[in-house]
Amino acid sequence: MKNISRSTALFERAKQFIPGGVNSPVRAFKAVGGNPLFIKKAKGAYLYDEDGNEYVDLINSWGPMILGHAYPAVEEAVREALSCSPSFGAPTAREVEMAELICSMIPSVEKVRMVNSGTEATMSAIRVARGFTGRDKIIKMEGCYHGHGDSFLISAGSGALTFGYPDSPGVTKGTALDTLTVPFNDLNAVELLVEKNAGQIAALILEPVVGNMGCVPPAEGYLEGLRKICSKSGIVLIFDEVMTGFRLSQGGAQQLYNVKPDLTTLGKIIGGGLPVGAYGGKREIMDSVSPAGPIYQAGTLSGNPMAMAAGLAMLKHLKDNPGIYDALNGTANFIIQGLQKQISKYRLSCSINHVGSMFTLFFTDKKVIDFASAKTSDTVLFGKYFQAMLSRGVYLAPSQYEALFLSAAIDKTIADRIIQASNESLEEITK
Ligand code: PMP
Repeated sequence: MKNISRSTALFERAKQFIPGGVNSPVRAFKAVGGNPLFIKKAKGAYLYDEDGNEYVDLINSWGPMILGHAYPAVEEAVREALSCSPSFGAPTAREVEMAELICSMIPSVEKVRMVNSGTEATMSAIRVARGFTGRDKIIKMEGCYHGHGDSFLISAGSGALTFGYPDSPGVTKGTALDTLTVPFNDLNAVELLVEKNAGQIAALILEPVVGNMGCVPPAEGYLEGLRKICSKSGIVLIFDEVMTGFRLSQGGAQQLYNVKPDLTTLGKIIGGGLPVGAYGGKREIMDSVSPAGPIYQAGTLSGNPMAMAAGLAMLKHLKDNPGIYDALNGTANFIIQGLQKQISKYRLSCSINHVGSMFTLFFTDKKVIDFASAKTSDTVLFGKYFQAMLSRGVYLAPSQYEALFLSAAIDKTIADRIIQASNESLEEITK
């Protein structure tokens, strides 16, 4: 057993003054048992907690640390920006560079607005879609998570799913009525819903590859089918690429699957670990945003110099080193092959979903294609696996309903360590 006495003491203090002791629900280990670890620092592939324990990090800040922690070019860029004052609330050259870079890398984005989180990005994109179409209703997929905006806490994934509140108290009935939900990967359901609500749907929003009910890829033809339905009915198609943007390829999931949405929401990687989000898309839609158009959206810290510096360093590195995606995918394939062998060896009812460097080991023998199949997972067994991995120095997302994210800092030796830890853990929990 690791000594986690400092983390335990910090959690006791935290609970006195922070709801549940954490500033974002999934950080609490509520779904897997035990107390959360308090992290002091991280470098490359490793996290270090307050008690000095080392862990291979498979969360990577829920995605953004794709190059590994404290990556020198990112660190240097932030230092340089800091020395010139962390905020002005006025336009900067870095914001122009960032917008040009995003538009050059994400296929469907012609204009982009920076915000401060993924939640802000999706809330803003929905407002723009409503303002642009003059319609009120939106369609979202069960189990997809788009941040904590009111409209999205209906059949939501991630922590909302983990803690059993996919429909949060505090969301007004009117808002809930404007959000229509369908199962992921079910084109028929979308067609029927659109027919039933003809002329009333402003937007259809989805994670093109879901990360927030665990990793769930789109079925063949699904994204193309959604594109057709939306084009036919004047619905704004929004890809929420907060997780997949710059992770699954330089141009995100839309490049990988070759389907262009009307609007895209981004976050995570574009901030290089600092709090950033963005939404962008077709020029005609984005030009309806204030001050170019009447739809209001603003932010004191939007386009913050330090956040832009970190994000630019990260994105430039990814643009200049396209080979990084093959390397990440190679590491993912290697680890997944190792896990597949273990599933056979221990005759486990498990299935693995995987796209690029995002993957989830589901403790169910069902093929996970949507919310209903994800929920057939044995979350108690997952909790045991999580604890067994943690005790062997591998830090997984503390919920079955999350994707794991690899970083480029995970080399063959570290990948071997992950596979070995998993083998021992599965042996332990299936005894
Ligand atoms: N959209 C998706 C797909 C996400 O995964 C997340 C967060 N995990 C969000 C939106 C919300 O982003 P944030 O937590 O930065 O508000």
